[in-house]
Amino acid sequence: MFELLDRDANGRTGKFTIGKKEIKTPNIAIVINPNRMLVPPKELKGFGADLIITNSYIIYRNQKLREKAEKGLHKFLNWSGPIYTDSGTFQMYSQNVKDINSEEIIDFQEKIKSDIITPVDMFTLPDDSKETARKKLKETSKRILSARGLTKKTLNAPIQGGLFLDLRKKACVEAKKSNPDLFSIGGIVPLMEQYRFRELCDIILTCKQNLPFSKPVHAFGAGHPMVFSLLTAFGCDLFDSAMYSIAARRGGYLTTNGTHQFENLTEFPCSCPMCANSNPRDVENKEEFLTKHNLYVTFQEIRTIRQAIKEDSLWELVQSRVRSHPKLLEAFEYNLKKYKRFISKHDNISKKSAFFYSGKESEYRPEVILAKERLKKVKSKRYFTKKPFGRIPVELSGVYPFSQSIIPGEPDKRVRSKPEEAVKKTIEYQFGKHKLKKFKVEISRKTGRIRRVYSDKLLGTIRSYDGLFLPTKEGANFIDMKKVVVDDDAVPFVENGKSVFAKFVKSAKGILPSEEVSVVDKKGRILAVGKALLNEDEMKDFNRGMAVKTR
Ligand SMILES: [Zn+2]
Repeated sequence: MFELLDRDANGRTGKFTIGKKEIKTPNIAIVINPNRMLVPPKELKGFGADLIITNSYIIYRNQKLREKAEKGLHKFLNWSGPIYTDSGTFQMYSQNVKDINSEEIIDFQEKIKSDIITPVDMFTLPDDSKETARKKLKETSKRILSARGLTKKTLNAPIQGGLFLDLRKKACVEAKKSNPDLFSIGGIVPLMEQYRFRELCDIILTCKQNLPFSKPVHAFGAGHPMVFSLLTAFGCDLFDSAMYSIAARRGGYLTTNGTHQFENLTEFPCSCPMCANSNPRDVENKEEFLTKHNLYVTFQEIRTIRQAIKEDSLWELVQSRVRSHPKLLEAFEYNLKKYKRFISKHDNISKKSAFFYSGKESEYRPEVILAKERLKKVKSKRYFTKKPFGRIPVELSGVYPFSQSIIPGEPDKRVRSKPEEAVKKTIEYQFGKHKLKKFKVEISRKTGRIRRVYSDKLLGTIRSYDGLFLPTKEGANFIDMKKVVVDDDAVPFVENGKSVFAKFVKSAKGILPSEEVSVVDKKGRILAVGKALLNEDEMKDFNRGMAVKTR
């Protein structure tokens, strides 16, 4: 079960319920190699870990490990939080292990009391032919379906299909039929190893277009902190890291900008508890030191991302991170442009933080795409220009994102206009048509800005941080707002001031996240007004959580 908490870019924070346990997302599952635990699982809590992942196949094929695990995986690993098990698919790819019986491995995962169960999928290589990829996909789909019949636990559905986007789409469509609880995009490790981030993101966004929004998506094998923010912004909720330990063994010191070789370090460019109190010459156990530093930097980045989502600044974080490698920047720009329609439908239409321009790719960000679209609805006698938005009516000079954007070489402009005209144009910009003719405007004495709009009754207020109009229920009568139609059962609750939950939404045509909407009954009677938290598709998709926060 997945519940959305906050969103920004195409990323989100959420609550993922795994049996009786829950974790917040985005998050990372730390890979535990049962043969080699340099940092024992119980110590991982101290680094920030909520979830561990281990390989059921490695345990299964080793009699000693198997006997221990059969008494309970949690006891064996000394970890009380949720445990995710992988199936051995990656060993089939990396160690040439022959095909593993999926049903046998599912039974084993059940037996050892894993919390997230993974069937054995067929790892598709980037150079597999389309025919091979198709065959592997067909077999993988069969195994997911069979797994659903074998377990009632949280089920992970791996998505294969190689580099073929049409096959990735098909894999999603097939996997959905099994109603899994989590989707994992597989076969992407070779792409990351070869810095083929453009293809990686292309695959992720293709999958996102075809997967339900109400379920988390795991980028299987993504463990380098330099990619977390980009993949989160494109819709991934979960990562896993063996990287912290593999890199450590090879002398790799991870940072959010890439990997340093320990030998080359004369300083530690980090303030984690390991680095802050030592210098490279004094480190005795290099592998242990690196393992721990790598864990710290991994969780620091996950927390940074969650905070960025909370503050509506995830795109800004991504734009700074992708500049650490040209291939990341290329991946970001290419896919932001290619999927701009889709991405724009899943981002907040208004944000608490300003829009920072940081290069050509900024022009494909949803803030720009949506603002340009909305501008088409507004005509004026006077305009000013601000790149990348183009010509903007002067009455909108205080409105998001025109005044809440920082663009190099473009001066901030707040142009004076009649308050009544500014209100009208703002409403046109947000909603299009309206029937507001006579009304009064109250200006704040402190800020000089418009605060309230009223006739004999209050029609709405202007929100201070984005200059947008928030209609009251009375004001909604004059404005052509988008409507969320709710089920009869929900009507009395909404009328009493309760927010609208997704499961009661009947329809929500064209609605975008953060948009001001009216909530109506089946006959079109306005029950309330408020802010949409989900878009049209998501409202249909989610069974849990809030759809409209009413005022
Ligand atoms: Zn460090």
